Amino acid sequence: DPNIIVFWWCCYLLFLVPPSIVKLKEPERRHDTCIEFTVRGSPHPTLQWFYKDKVLLIHMTDYIEGCLTFKNPTHHNNGNYTLKATNYLGEATSTVYGHFLNKPFDVTPTAETQKPEDHTFGVTMAVCLAVFACVMLVVLFFFINKYGRHSKFGMKGPVAVISGEEDSASPLHHVNHGIFSPCTLEAGPDTVVIGMTQIPVIENPQYFRHGHNCNKPTAYVQHIKRRDIILKRELGEGAFGKVFLAECYNLSPTKDKMLVAVKTLKDPTLAARKDFQREAELLTNLQHEHIVKFYGVCVDGDPLIMVFEYMKHGDLNKFLRAHGPDAMILVDGQPLQTSGELGLSQMLHIASQIAGGMIYLASQHFVHRDLATRNCLVGNGLLVKIGDFGMSRDIYSTDYYRVGGHTMLPIRWMPPESIMYRKFTTESDVWSFGVILWEIFTYGKQPWFQLANNEVIECITQGRVLERPQLCPKEVYDMMLGCWQREPQQRLNIKDIQKMLFTLMKATPVYLDILG
Ligand code: ADP
Repeated sequence: DPNIIVFWWCCYLLFLVPPSIVKLKEPERRHDTCIEFTVRGSPHPTLQWFYKDKVLLIHMTDYIEGCLTFKNPTHHNNGNYTLKATNYLGEATSTVYGHFLNKPFDVTPTAETQKPEDHTFGVTMAVCLAVFACVMLVVLFFFINKYGRHSKFGMKGPVAVISGEEDSASPLHHVNHGIFSPCTLEAGPDTVVIGMTQIPVIENPQYFRHGHNCNKPTAYVQHIKRRDIILKRELGEGAFGKVFLAECYNLSPTKDKMLVAVKTLKDPTLAARKDFQREAELLTNLQHEHIVKFYGVCVDGDPLIMVFEYMKHGDLNKFLRAHGPDAMILVDGQPLQTSGELGLSQMLHIASQIAGGMIYLASQHFVHRDLATRNCLVGNGLLVKIGDFGMSRDIYSTDYYRVGGHTMLPIRWMPPESIMYRKFTTESDVWSFGVILWEIFTYGKQPWFQLANNEVIECITQGRVLERPQLCPKEVYDMMLGCWQREPQQRLNIKDIQKMLFTLMKATPVYLDILG
């Protein structure tokens, strides 16, 4: 029947629709970001995504509505995203600009990225300038070495400004447009050279106050005789000298000798000696059960020595890695057995002790600026103490970000205001504590390990935070998020953090049996 045929044709044509893109939404800047889309068309259009003229995804047929999802996008993902929907009746395309993160700041172009200019005069000038810059640097270096500060235990750098104020501002924008000098090139996988622009780097001013707490008189620094210190073996390498296990005589009234850790400073300049003395005064004044015990100094001769209590299990980062799921005890290069893995109660116990040390530091109005597991020490019976008031830049050099050629900053532990304005406060220490929690629950992973330093700066300043580690209870991650509030005043208070940790510990069975 022709009527029936016409009827079916009409029905068929009614349902045939060429493709159209009815929604293509600009991505919002969130943790996991997506470009939402809705397409129409009958038969179902085939979808293709293009980014920078390259096919990104091909032949998605089942989606009429959906999301092009990005996991942790950075500025590298910024750009135009084009969706093409095709069926045999036609095609439709639509483009949206995905802006995920801003570029952190202009990084001085490296030699490879600079376009070579075929201009003899320009090249000659550049070479002359470079040679001149090198000569100036050598001269500067000589003067700094001869007359400059050489602080073993404080943040330092050739452009260091010693300031009495805690919250000195130095906007990160100063980093922009650094003058490239090959002499400052310090290439490394995680190192970004940002030229010789002078970023005022503030040494921790608290190291340079006589008696950081005005109400408390400076305690007398104990002097230990060199003949009373017998070095036994090397424990590690500090930023400015070796750390040794030693036996120390006549230190304790009850024992005739005891094990200690000694930090050495070789060939100090006069300025370095003064810094050493101030550092010793500071350490003498900081006394708490969760701050590593400082016994005194030995300054009769070379090297200068600081004597600390010996913490048997070394630094907490190493300890966490050794007690994580990937840890193996190797005997002759062969895996023997896994060492005991830390459980939840032990992790909480570690965290609460660091919080205890921090409560004390805050009560002394001491801002640490470099709280991280590498700067905590582990003793017998899972006793944990904040153990380093300097910077452990050598062994853990990838944890620090080199600015201005010399100064290293622990950006992965720093909040946005410290990165952007060099503002360090008790609240910025709380942010770092959140990162310490994350380190503990990842068994010592490096925060943002998947990102290069400039990307980390970008992520932190744009408001992204670390992901919840596997096995981390929600309550603990909420605590981390409480430490990572953008507004310093909104962050949790360290006392409240400790209370929360105690509450969680009570709800968790305690098995502190893995260590002797
Ligand atoms: P610096 O502050 O000069 O960079 P560190 O304090 O980081 O030096 O010490 C380097 C290493 O020496 C640490 O990673 C740790 O393994 C070991 N160490 C430091 N102090 C002690 C201590 N009191 N007890 C045991 N080991 C220590």
